[in-house]
Amino acid sequence: MQDADKRVTAVVAIDGPAGAGKSTVARRVASCLGLLYLDTGAMYRALALKALSAGLGPDDEAALVQLLANSDIHVAEDPDRQLHVWLDGRDVTDAIRRPAVHAVVAQVASLGGIRAGMVDRQRSLAEEGGVVMDGRDIGTYVLPHAPFKFFLTASLEARVARRHRELAAQGFLVPAATLQRDIVERDRMDSTRAVAPLQQAPDAHVIDTTNLTADQVVQEILAVVRGR
Ligand code: C5P
Repeated sequence: MQDADKRVTAVVAIDGPAGAGKSTVARRVASCLGLLYLDTGAMYRALALKALSAGLGPDDEAALVQLLANSDIHVAEDPDRQLHVWLDGRDVTDAIRRPAVHAVVAQVASLGGIRAGMVDRQRSLAEEGGVVMDGRDIGTYVLPHAPFKFFLTASLEARVARRHRELAAQGFLVPAATLQRDIVERDRMDSTRAVAPLQQAPDAHVIDTTNLTADQVVQEILAVVRGR
């Protein structure tokens, strides 16, 4: 992408349910286009982790909103292009993927006050320059005017298998049946919450990733972005 084009076109929104492959793909797309990558799920996870450490329940909205206001959450790549998540100056990249965080993050993310705070942060980051942002509500709510919107889907079996591999790589051997229940429940909560639910934008390109490699999905997205 030429620099002159970047200013106008460089906002790519990638949404979809848990395990559809968004973060791997979004990161590679950002790298190919020379854009910033923002994993918005990691931001919600970092707050959920902090809430757990503070002993706050996912239904204590006022305390959680206060907690978010006092939290410094950063998602950034190191020089080796590894993505790191920082919470109040601490590297929480691995900690936010723990099963305990999985268990509460959707509830924390369903709170209106939390979404308002997170969405403000995400929009400010997008204003700084070109960005590839992945999440659940990017194309519909956070950046509804994004010129490029993608919605990734995959069969439940494929999504469970991906989560299983991801967790196994971190040393967590969670039974597939447990993961399936978790994914179905998180999708249900994400799709039915009152504020900014998981939803496909009417103008999004839908990509079913069930039988595609991450690279094939990246190529499909790049073809759309570069073809315009
Ligand atoms: O994408 P990831 O699975 O890491 O997201 C964790 C959780 O954060 C999701 O299940 C969802 O509840 C929440 N989330 C959200 N809005 C986003 C991104 C994530 O509500 N834009």
